Formats: sequence, structure tokens, C-alpha cells
Amino acid sequence: MQEKDTEQDGQETFEKICYVCRRPESKAGPMISMPGGMNFCHACMQKAFDSVTQGGIDFSKLQNMPYMNLNLSDIPGLAPGTTEIPEKNKVKKKRAEKKKPEFTMKDVPAPHRIKARLDEYIIGQERAKKAISVAVYNHYKRVLLQGQESDGGEVQIEKSNILMLGPTGSGKTYLVKTLARLLDVPLAVADATSLTEAGYIGDDIESVVSKLLAAADNDVEKAEHGIIFIDEIDKIARKKNLTTRDVSGESVQQELLKLLEGSQIEVPVGSNQKNALTPLATVNTDHILFICGGAFPDLADIVKERLSRSMGMGFNAHLRDEYDGDPELLSQTTTEDLRAFGMIPEFLGRLPVLVPLHGVTKDLLVRILKEPKNAIIKQYTRLLELDEVKLVFEDGALDWISEEALKKDTGARALRAIIEEFMLDIMYEIPKDPNIGSVVITRSYLEKCGGPMIEMRGHG
Ligand code: ADP
Repeated sequence: MQEKDTEQDGQETFEKICYVCRRPESKAGPMISMPGGMNFCHACMQKAFDSVTQGGIDFSKLQNMPYMNLNLSDIPGLAPGTTEIPEKNKVKKKRAEKKKPEFTMKDVPAPHRIKARLDEYIIGQERAKKAISVAVYNHYKRVLLQGQESDGGEVQIEKSNILMLGPTGSGKTYLVKTLARLLDVPLAVADATSLTEAGYIGDDIESVVSKLLAAADNDVEKAEHGIIFIDEIDKIARKKNLTTRDVSGESVQQELLKLLEGSQIEVPVGSNQKNALTPLATVNTDHILFICGGAFPDLADIVKERLSRSMGMGFNAHLRDEYDGDPELLSQTTTEDLRAFGMIPEFLGRLPVLVPLHGVTKDLLVRILKEPKNAIIKQYTRLLELDEVKLVFEDGALDWISEEALKKDTGARALRAIIEEFMLDIMYEIPKDPNIGSVVITRSYLEKCGGPMIEMRGHG
């Protein structure tokens, strides 16, 4: 899936854009280039000629002519006297068919390979990693199948968009970011709470596709194989007992439907707003993998309620107690539970892969501290290694950090802040004395009952 950004034979990389109707050449056809870098599509040129033959040119009859009257040097950030359209607003040319790098199954690692790579960074969450690896593999298989027209299309493989359920700090965003990095595909992360129905204040739904296009360096083809992660999706659940119009809830779910199922979306290039100055590119969302994530508070209660109901009336109270605090409860979530939570059925239908993540436990936090490839402890150890100082964390110290993090109730997210607080002193003091050979962080140091254990060189 590695694609080059530039054409090898020195051809222009960017599409020409008609100065009158703003369409790129992939849509409007070959351009007529004029001195001064202006381009016109045939249709607009024809209109201009027609106006001439009908007696005089009436520019006001032409659609809109933003660049005609535009003084580019008025745009903030552009050098005075600029006559070129800024790079960030240019649309990359689609690659010539013959030179298109063949996207084959070889580019997509098998599920066990994807999971093995995820294992290097993400600790625990075994079921989630497995489910995601399979979903991603299937997703790209589907993309390939659709690319081969010869396949009679007898069996239509449906999109395997993913819905991740897991409390804050359980690693949802981290999982998606790691995935996009190892697949080398562009990723856009958006927050459902900032999305509103078109026409309302806030980002409209299409802005997420715009973000993805930017992440793909304005390369439409690259963006079309990318991943869009929409976080806090539970915040757009249908609100109960609603009397006013629901701007950010159900209607946003409705609008997201068309993105999720695959459609042609016109997005402004290099900007998150459509206006007369920004060229538009058309992005097909059919091959984009959508992953939605949310903490879904209270969902556990809904699941509990359903499970107790299904077990029969008499045992209700007893069973409900049994489910209390069961960390596996969310893994039994069904689509009905999510409907009861306030997600609309059509929306859930387009997110067929449900991936529950556990909340973090103390043991998991200890492992997150030391095991990932870029674990925080490993990072600090490496930093002090450069001063030729050996840094050791006692097990008791790791326990203490994890216990403190659990109290904050923000999952693994709390770890870094806790460590940074006490490591500041260590990182400041240790380089002062070149004789220090090793530092051991103990639990009593963290509990502020003593200093860290320091050994001088030549003694250890
Ligand atoms: P969420 O999106 O679920 O709220 P994040 O993905 O933002 O949580 O997680 C916050 C941070 O916690 C991440 O940047 C990552 O460093 C760490 N983290 C969380 N879960 C894990 C995990 N299972 N393995 C390794 N690191 C994790």
C-alpha cells in the first residue's frame, strides 16, 4: 500500500483547475491554458465564445469567476505579487492507469500478522485486537474484489465498519492510530461531539472526509483507502424525552449514514469550508474504513437488565448483583442494547463489527508501563542511558503508579502525567553529578517517605 506522491517522469503532480467553474480537469476535461497560469475548461470557454458571438461578453452571466477578480496577494500568508494558487489548495492528479501501483493482497498483512504488530504496542485487549485484525483484513479484501471488474460480483461483500466500545483510556484511539501506521494508510480522527447537521454551527459531517484528504496530502486515491475514526460516538445517541429539534444527536447519525455506506462526497481541498475560493475534489467513501468509538456509559446497566430479564423473573435481584462490577459485561453487548442506548438501527446496521474493550485493571496498567515497544518506562530508561545512568523501577513503584492512575478514572491516560511529575526531579538532579551510576525508583520514594536509591559509579 505504499504509494509515491510524485510522478516519476516529471509530469505535473497537480490537476489544473478551471478559473471559472473551479472544477479540476479530472471532472471538467482537458483545460485550455492561458498566459499567467490561468486555465479554462472547454465548457466555460465555449460559454465565453457564445457570449462574444451573441454580442459582447457579459461576465455576469458566467457562473462565478472567483480567480478572475482575485488578487492572490490578498490571501493571508501568500507573498505579495503571487500568481500561483497555494499548494495546499491543489488537487493531486490521479495517477495514470498504467503506472498505478498495483494494490494487491500482498500489501495487506494476514490477520495474525496485523495482530502480532498490534501486540508490540497494545497490551491486553486480546479480543479487540483479534476482531480488528480480521475486520481490517476483510475490508481490504473487499476493496480488492471491487477493483476487479472481472469478478462477476455474485457475492457482494459488505463493508466491515467497526464500532468500538470501551471506557476512556482503554486504548481505542491508540489502537486505531497504531493500525493506520502499520498499514501505512492515512487516518483522520474526528470527535462526534463537534459534528453537526449541515447548516448548523460546528463542523459538518463532510469535514471528516476533508481531514482524511489532508492526511493523504490531497491525494484522492490514497484517501480513498484510508481510515476515519470517529470518537465519542455515544454522545450522538438519540436523546430521550426530547422537545426541541435534535441537532447533534439523531440527525447527525442520519447524516453519517451516507458516509458509512459509501458515497461520492465533494470536499473542499486544503480547507474545511466550502467557499468560492477552494477547489472541490470528489472522494468516494466506499473503500474508506470507518471506525467509531465510544465509552457508552450506562450501557453496562442496559446489558445487565437484559441478561437478568432473560434469566427469568424470580432471580432478578440476585442476578443483577452478580453482574455488578463484572468487567466482561460489555463484551456481551448486542445491537439491541445499543438501540436501547439511543443509537438508530440503520446506523448500527452499517457498523457490523462490534469490538468491546475492557476497562484497565491494575495489572494491565503495570504491563502498559513496561511492555509496549515505546513504553514510558523504556523511554525514560533510554533517556538516562544517554547520561550513562542506569534507571530501575522497583515492582512496588510500578504498583504505586498504577494504583494512583486507577484513582483518576481516566484509564491508562493518567499514567504519563503521574510519572512525569516525579521524574522531573530525577531528570533534573541526576545529570548534575557525573558520579551517579544508577537510580532505583522505590515505592517509598513515590510515597514521599524517602529518596530514590542512588548508587555511585564503581560501587555497583
Ligand atoms: P481512549 O481513546 O480509549 O480514550 P486512548 O487510546 O487515548 O484511550 O489511550 C490513552 C493512552 O493510554 C494511549 O496513548 C496509550 O499510550 C495508553 N494505552 C491505553 N491502553 C493501552 C494498551 N492496552 N496498551 C498500551 N497502551 C495503552
